[in-house]
Amino acid sequence: MQQIPQDPQEILEHVFGYTEFRGAQAEVIDTLMSDRDALVLMPTGGGKSLCYQIPALARPGCGVVISPLIALMQDQVEALQAAGVKAAFLNSSLPFDQVQNIEGALLRGELDLLYMAPERLLQPRSLDLLSRIQLSLFAIDEAHCVSQWGHDFRADYLQLNCLHEQFPTVPRIALTATADQRTRAEIAQRLDLQAAEHFVSSFDRPNIQYRIAQKDNPRRQLLQFLRAEQQGNAGVVYCLSRAKVESTAEWLRQQGFNALPYHAGLPAQVRAEHQRRFLREEGVIVVATIAFGMGIDKPDVRFVAHLDLPKSVEAYYQETGRAGRDGEASTALLLYGLEDVVKLGQMADSSDGSEEHKRQERARLNAMLGLCEITSCRRQSLLRYFGEELAEPCGNCDTCLEPPQTWDGTQAAAKLLSCVYRTGQRFGAAHVIDVLRGSENEKVRKFGHDRVTTYGIGKDLSANEWRGVVRQLVVRAYIEVEGEFQSLRLTEACRPLLRGEESIQLRKLPPKAKSSRAEGRK
Ligand code: ADP
Ligand code: ZN
Repeated sequence: MQQIPQDPQEILEHVFGYTEFRGAQAEVIDTLMSDRDALVLMPTGGGKSLCYQIPALARPGCGVVISPLIALMQDQVEALQAAGVKAAFLNSSLPFDQVQNIEGALLRGELDLLYMAPERLLQPRSLDLLSRIQLSLFAIDEAHCVSQWGHDFRADYLQLNCLHEQFPTVPRIALTATADQRTRAEIAQRLDLQAAEHFVSSFDRPNIQYRIAQKDNPRRQLLQFLRAEQQGNAGVVYCLSRAKVESTAEWLRQQGFNALPYHAGLPAQVRAEHQRRFLREEGVIVVATIAFGMGIDKPDVRFVAHLDLPKSVEAYYQETGRAGRDGEASTALLLYGLEDVVKLGQMADSSDGSEEHKRQERARLNAMLGLCEITSCRRQSLLRYFGEELAEPCGNCDTCLEPPQTWDGTQAAAKLLSCVYRTGQRFGAAHVIDVLRGSENEKVRKFGHDRVTTYGIGKDLSANEWRGVVRQLVVRAYIEVEGEFQSLRLTEACRPLLRGEESIQLRKLPPKAKSSRAEGRK
């Protein structure tokens, strides 16, 4: 086995095969080399791993990496071993004899890096073991798991402050890609990292072009995108449900694409095989639920497409962040519609957890919807969410490239709201739109809705445009969608508009979705 050099720069070159440190890596490594703690905030793909792997190799003793993701641990360790690093992991999936081998190697000082899940580390047996060897550092990956406000909260993480008490001289590094100020403060406090050096990197991914469009005919929209811009490229298509993953992958195959499904319901070997093909073959499209992506390190993913709305801006950023890690131009395309808003809203409301938790989920969803509906630069808005200001509009998002047009939707909104009211606030969007457009269908007649005052007053807009109005009013919380029939109800917020004290600007639908009738609107 090759001899590992002692100098960080040499390790970078000879073990990892890179020429230069990226971003804050050199400074972070320097901090650990001089026995100080570090708190590192870097976006996904920013290169967090080297921040602890290199000092663990350069310093005497074994570095302990705490990571909540067992699958990811295995991949990382295999990659390290392939590079000649003496790395291992300990978790509940290992048979006892392997555990003994690893423990033996550890005690003999033969390991440079040991990965463990937090629950494993906190066992008295593990802590005892670590107290008998020389340790180079502790790396706490996915450190935002200490945050009770986040969706990745893990109770075990709270106990990791014991490391500082038991091993006061071993430097610690906490890493996360979750940037907001509150989470950062929480990490520092709960992990006893007040004295740590903070490294906060920009979250901007300038090579990713953000595009968010309303669902019109999502399959056709996706196909058009793939055919026009992504022929032969590797990418990920995210869907919310397993069933939709399967049907979309099947459909893409029929359209001639090399598409593979990936979700947690598939047998482990199928998942592993699809992941492997995605990594090794050219131009594979993986259609996946969010189960796919954790730890997938493929530099040349040219696009990430969402056929369903992510449930938060964090999720959107993480998932789109899998595109373009090589720095080359890439595209993040999101298609969303009213049904997504309703479905996710219901998921948030029915999730188990406290009222506070539900409120948080709602707030996250609303922030995501806000990003969808804005008419200014997406990137500025996205970065602002993570506490970062971008001075100028980016010029590489859909709203910068094709500024969306708005129209005065005050009258249309008033018509819609009164129609919801007149029909008793018991019907879903489709029915209310039928009434507005003067449809003569069975259901309209059965309820006598052809006799309400709002019947037929909305013929000037197409059904699709009306759906756009409904969605934007839902997003602005003028309307709520409730119950199993997804009936629309008015909220307090719509009163000023109904009283004529407020006007509202709505986003115009893109031309292709617009019906010819809409041209007559003034
Ligand atoms: P993170 O954990 O922040 O998501 P990783 O540590 O997995 O990011 O790194 C992302 C990718 O960038 C990996 O492919 C990694 O090998 C590569 N990388 C990291 N640092 C460098 C560097 N200094 N030079 C070139 N590539 C790097
Ligand atoms: Zn922009």
